[in-house]
Amino acid sequence: MKKLLLLFVSIVLFNCNSSAQKKDSKQSESFEISKTDVQWKSELTDIEYHVMRESGTERPFSSPLDKNYKKGTYVCAACQTPLFKGEHKFDSGTGWPSFDREIEGNVAFGTDSDLGYSRDEEHCATCGGHLGHVFNDGPRKTTGKRHCINGAALDFIPE
Ligand SMILES: [Zn+2]
Repeated sequence: MKKLLLLFVSIVLFNCNSSAQKKDSKQSESFEISKTDVQWKSELTDIEYHVMRESGTERPFSSPLDKNYKKGTYVCAACQTPLFKGEHKFDSGTGWPSFDREIEGNVAFGTDSDLGYSRDEEHCATCGGHLGHVFNDGPRKTTGKRHCINGAALDFIPE
């Protein structure tokens, strides 16, 4: 009986440890919220799934959030983690919602080479959903960064 209890406890501990582990590369990164492909597909719209789970890119100027400048918070469309603040949004003219900074700690970064050069990929630190990329041609007056984010990966919560 004691042995059985010990076994039970060690299984529970093991599970807690493995879900709390944070790793640095995206391939082996584990997330607080993790679902199967089938689950994501049933919960997300087609474009959300394409962007967030297949690292796709929405058509420029296709997101109603591109021209949204209301006060509020942009949260992850998949898990509702706050990712960007309305006050840090600017019009980059690219057709994608753009921000000069993220909400620190809630956005994680990787690298991809889709276009033959290295860019900084951004994803939700909670669920791993792909968001967009960060570039160094943002507003010089503030951070100099341009976080180019797919509107499909965001939900807007007005203040
Ligand atoms: Zn998320």
